[in-house]
Amino acid sequence: MQVPATFEYERAESVPHALELLERYGPEARIVAGGHSLIPMMKLRLAQPEALIDINGLASELGRIAVDGHELAIGALVRHTELLESSTATDLFPIFRDAERVIADPIVRNRGTVGGSLCQGDPSEDLSAVFAALRATAVIQGPGGTRTVPVRQFHEGPYETAVEPNELLIQLRVPVAPGTGSAYEKVERRVGDWPVAAAGAVIRIEDGVIVQAGIGLTAVGAEHFCAPEAETYLEGRRPDGEAFAEAGRIAAEHCAPHADQRGPADYKRHLAAELTRRALATAAGRI
Ligand SMILES: Cc1cc2nc3c(=O)[nH]c(=O)nc-3n(C[C@H](O)[C@H](O)[C@H](O)COP(=O)(O)OP(=O)(O)OC[C@H]3O[C@@H](n4cnc5c(N)ncnc54)[C@H](O)[C@@H]3O)c2cc1C
Repeated sequence: MQVPATFEYERAESVPHALELLERYGPEARIVAGGHSLIPMMKLRLAQPEALIDINGLASELGRIAVDGHELAIGALVRHTELLESSTATDLFPIFRDAERVIADPIVRNRGTVGGSLCQGDPSEDLSAVFAALRATAVIQGPGGTRTVPVRQFHEGPYETAVEPNELLIQLRVPVAPGTGSAYEKVERRVGDWPVAAAGAVIRIEDGVIVQAGIGLTAVGAEHFCAPEAETYLEGRRPDGEAFAEAGRIAAEHCAPHADQRGPADYKRHLAAELTRRALATAAGRI
């Protein structure tokens, strides 16, 4: 079946208007941003929303990338391509460039959004691992105002997030600190494919010692897309190959990958260790 069921369509004119429409149509309404995840699911009838609330007209409110105090603010409607081409974002955090270059293809990147990627909650989503490594905060707006949720608590399970049916993800905020390096490593079966496994690393070094480490993992069954045991191991250590290899081993040990068409579980666990090691080494070299 390649034809969606019938649905109402509304074009939001502002964030408050989008929230009003969500209230009006109730829990069977869905926000549509790039549509690259939702529309295929509707065609396959895996999703049958009664109404679509289109937020593509809200770029002035939700499509900005800017440094705001000690944080980088990225609007939920920022397209993958815009993040890839933003020197504000990629100069501060090269992990965005590394990841966005290998997410899907230009057609998907031109339309798909940062907010849609996170809200889809796919266990193989690249940006979920990136924002987990960066210890970002999600800003969510609902009828009662805005609230913030650490990205590491944003995903409540496969395809489940902290965003309630009457709420909108409006922004991601990433803490900016001097002495920070970042990188992303992904293995895919062919160009533009979802990851077999991928790892992001963000490390901050002071006086030759790692003071904070962030490790994001995707497609390998890492809880909340992160590797807290490996991060704890790294903190207080010198940034050398031995420490990075051990952190990779610890990260892989705490993953729970599933065998599927992209590969057997053992191979994915091996990739989790090796890609974590490589991402950490590259991140350290970029400080
Ligand atoms: C061929 C193909 C290849 C792909 N390859 C990759 C890949 O390699 N790596 C990868 O990580 N991803 C990949 N993707 C997924 C893609 O990057 C995005 O995840 C996808 O485009 C979702 O973003 P969107 O804006 O299109 O979301 P939509 O499809 O519009 O929405 C997705 C979900 O999020 C909700 N939503 C959207 N925005 C908001 C918001 N602001 N607030 C609340 N809810 C919201 C929608 O209601 C819907 O439930 C691929 C997609 C395709 C089609």
